[in-house]
Amino acid sequence: MPKERIHRFEHGGKRYAIDPETCFCFECDAISWDVLEYYPDVSVNQIYHALADKHPRGELAEVVSELEWLRSTKSILTTPKREELGKRFEVERGLKRVVLRLPHINAQEAPRTESTDAPAAADQLGRRALELLLGRAREQKTLTLEFLEVGHVQNPQRVVQLCEDAARAARLAGKELTVAVWVTDVELAKTPKALEGHAVGAKLEIKDAQGVAAHLGGLARQGPATLARLAKTLQPEAPGVAGRIVVCPKHPEFGGVVPALDNAGFKIIELDLDGAYAADPRLEPQTMLAGLSQSAVYYAEKLRAHNYFRLDPIAPLFWRIYNGSPQPRSDPAGTNELAVDETGHVYPSWRLMGREEFRLGALQDGIIDEERLAEFENVGSVTTAACMRCWARNLCGGGTAAVHHALTGSFRTPCPDWCNAQREWMAAAVSAFNILSSAGVNFSRVYNTLASSAKPSLFALARAAFRMTVGMRPIEEADAAMLARWENWSDAAYFVYDESAVLMATRYDREMDALHPRGIDHELILLRKSGAPFGLLKIRPEQTPGTARAFVYLRNEADYAADSVRRGFRAILKEAGAQQSLRSFTVPAMKWEKKFAEFLLALGFSKAGTQREAVYLHGHYHDVDLYAGCTEKL
Ligand code: SF4
Repeated sequence: MPKERIHRFEHGGKRYAIDPETCFCFECDAISWDVLEYYPDVSVNQIYHALADKHPRGELAEVVSELEWLRSTKSILTTPKREELGKRFEVERGLKRVVLRLPHINAQEAPRTESTDAPAAADQLGRRALELLLGRAREQKTLTLEFLEVGHVQNPQRVVQLCEDAARAARLAGKELTVAVWVTDVELAKTPKALEGHAVGAKLEIKDAQGVAAHLGGLARQGPATLARLAKTLQPEAPGVAGRIVVCPKHPEFGGVVPALDNAGFKIIELDLDGAYAADPRLEPQTMLAGLSQSAVYYAEKLRAHNYFRLDPIAPLFWRIYNGSPQPRSDPAGTNELAVDETGHVYPSWRLMGREEFRLGALQDGIIDEERLAEFENVGSVTTAACMRCWARNLCGGGTAAVHHALTGSFRTPCPDWCNAQREWMAAAVSAFNILSSAGVNFSRVYNTLASSAKPSLFALARAAFRMTVGMRPIEEADAAMLARWENWSDAAYFVYDESAVLMATRYDREMDALHPRGIDHELILLRKSGAPFGLLKIRPEQTPGTARAFVYLRNEADYAADSVRRGFRAILKEAGAQQSLRSFTVPAMKWEKKFAEFLLALGFSKAGTQREAVYLHGHYHDVDLYAGCTEKL
């Protein structure tokens, strides 16, 4: 049976389609639902013929052209090149993270290390774990060393010292190190009812290890902690420090956990569902769905009201869908991650710590079972038989080795019941994403990770423009003739205005400019739904952070007045602004571009000023009007 190229499903009375390879998803109306029953496996004429009794030919043609447009923007049905196909099977090598469970060092109790000197053993373990991380990092530059403790940080001075030593060694090795301190099984004072019976953990990630001492205090206190105190500890509002509360559900009634933590003020909340299954394989995946869906509904309502916080694993899933970043493997066990327990034994993942059959060796012996470790290269959806035809493969990433092992006894064999539940909640997430997307939720803020220098991804722009009358794509070599035709003799600001006020070039130079924009420019061709080019958009970030100059050119002047173009264009600018963290655009227009000026005013721009004699053209100097617009007000 061939792989399903577009998967259709129904959820909550609505219909959706998703490309399993790119993760591009959209809500279907009745006609696109019917067309997608055939598209792209049969010819367009066959589709017209098969649906002739159900839908008018013109509407069918419109849906097909929408799908073709998505295809041309590489949002759906991409055809990977031969070398790309090969790369899918390549394993990303190099350790990125080592989790170390520190030995218990309470002098009153018998130490759990092999050594009788527990504090010294902890130091030694820390150093060896760091050697393991740096020694196996290969080309990886950004590393994490994570200290795992139970209840509270027992000896903060020791952890601080280990972190500082680690930071020094990482710097010498040319690596960027984040240290994390993760306390599991935190005892809560006045446990809210919603959290009863579940395991609560607190994790702090600190980019500058020199600053660890300032933030560990709250996690080092013995005795029950209130949620308010935990929230304060985990959200110190210091640059480079991020904290999260992690709840591992121990029974299916966990639907109230997220509201309780949100009300307590936590900004990053994680539901560790994988941990739940790994710890208790008797949990029925279907019974866990209710709690997850309750959490998702609450989260969606909050986001719809623009109350942003991050809920894992839902927020990363939204981010992948939004950004078109498929994830064929979600579990880094054994390839990018190793774990070390308090006795120095090494495991492929912290979730597998203590399981004899996964022990890879011991730090003190300096030996790792390489053959056993290599078996983990085959984790993930690309090499797992059950995942290859699963429509959720690039969202789920093939699941987690520890969960598969707990449920089926094999770390490479997913449990069918778990997969069904997994697909069910992913379908719910796709549905929620589409609803939130049309409500204008800013997913970059939800995920909270977008670098301010990031360029707008074509995928995200295409998504923003989908179902509008304006699309776009990057300029291609094949556009040369058209661009030269548009530019020659044009007196639009797009072509004749230059901030340097110098415009001396041969026709050949101008043609080359059209095809090879400056490095910082992001230049796109604007497309109609049919895929026909009708204009150009160029965004050039300015020196003041958050501002950019935008150049716009529509080939046919009448398009400036079209409502559909204005609507689509406004969405594009907003999306480009959100993607690049731009708050305002300045757009130049020549005095004679009257329709263009009306277009800008209608979008919400206002005239900010005039640059006198900024363009020398046809033997005279000409003024250029500058229009300014704030993305929030467009
Ligand atoms: S849901 Fe199951 S079959 Fe599908 S990708 Fe995940 S682990 Fe594989």
